[in-house]
This record gives sequence, C-alpha cells and structure tokens, in this order.
Amino acid sequence: MTETAPGAQEFVPSGPPDLDELRAAAAGCQGCHLYQDATQTVFGRGDAGAKLVFVGEQPGDQEDRQGLPFVGPAGHLLRRAVDEAGLPVEHLYITNAVKHFKFKQSGPGKRRIHQSPDRIEITACRPWLVAEFAALRPDVVVVLGATAAKALLGPSFRVTQSRGTVLPWPESAQRPQDFPVEPAKLVATIHPSAVLRADDRQTAYSGLVADLKVAAAALAA
Ligand code: SF4
Repeated sequence: MTETAPGAQEFVPSGPPDLDELRAAAAGCQGCHLYQDATQTVFGRGDAGAKLVFVGEQPGDQEDRQGLPFVGPAGHLLRRAVDEAGLPVEHLYITNAVKHFKFKQSGPGKRRIHQSPDRIEITACRPWLVAEFAALRPDVVVVLGATAAKALLGPSFRVTQSRGTVLPWPESAQRPQDFPVEPAKLVATIHPSAVLRADDRQTAYSGLVADLKVAAAALAA
C-alpha cells in the first residue's frame, strides 16, 4: 500500500466535461497504485442525461474483467431493487468512488479477494467522481455503502445511522477545492453486496428497497 498517491487530477481532461472523453482518459489513469494489478479502469456508465446518480465502492472481480460497473451479483440485485423502488433504470448513471479493482490473491487457485480501498486511494480517485458529477449535474445522488459515503460525506459519516433520509449536500463537499460541483440531494443506503452477505437477506433487501423509494420521492419532488 502506498502512503501517498499523486491522484487522478493530472489525468482528467481540462475543458467542458464530457463523459466519453472522461471515460477514455480514465482508461490511462495512474493516479494511484491500483491500476498496476487490475485488468482495466471501470468507469461509470448509464444515461448521459441522468439526474439520478448511484455511487458504489469499487469494481469487483467480474466488473474488472468486463470493464463495466455493477455487472456482477450485487449489480443484478441492485437492478431488481431499483425496479421495485420505481426508479427509472434507463435514466440513471452508476459509478464507483474508486475506478480500479483492489484485491489480494490467495489460495491454490489464486482467487482474487476484494479489499476495501483506503482513504488515500479514495482521495486519489475522487477527481473522476467530481468530473462525472460536473458532466451530469445530478439532482439526486444515491450513496451505496461506507466507501462511497466516505468519498462524498467524509470519514465520520455512518450509513447505518443516516440511511434512508434525504440529506443536504455536505458543507465540506461545497468547498471548491473538495467537490466543485453543484449541490444535489443525497440518500445513503447499504451497498447491494451487503444484502448478499446478510444473514437475513430478505430484511436487508427490503431495507435497500425502502431507502431507494426515498430517493425516488426525492427525484419526483
Ligand atoms: S483507482 Fe482511480 S486514481 Fe487509482 S489508478 Fe485507478 S482510476 Fe486512477
């Protein structure tokens, strides 16, 4: 693990933000060490005119291989929850706080095991998230899990305490040097992978859908 990382900023194109341009530039990002072992950058995807943006943690094994976010089991579960909550799946954009897969390999088959990105990696990758927000100018941002919450809301934010309510854009994120984008409404909830890991999956899934219904209401307001 590196103690410092140069960060993604020098790889972000200047000029008016354009998602296709950003995606192409992010493919060559070396803003932290995570690009070295991952297969490829996994940038956000979805409707370029989306007013609803989902932010997850980082790509998983399947996302890393396919180059697309939320295509694994957690993504399928999220798609089902989005449908059930009445959110417009064709008009949303989904991305991650960190764009490369962080993992360690272990066991005889060298299985790739997910590792949560640390504060340095989250900070290093944040310019891509800022640029995506600048291109999209979302009305509602759904924060999926603790890593995305740390990227957007700071280290002290607790998803378990503040999930499922409409939150104001955090003051710290309004400082131009931190997050120079227009404020949006925020709704935090658990990451869909937490539903897959839960002992009581049905209850966890129902909680996720309930939180997404809050986002649906915020979008309609
Ligand atoms: S994780 Fe983010 S900052 Fe690090 S190399 Fe990948 S795209 Fe760049």
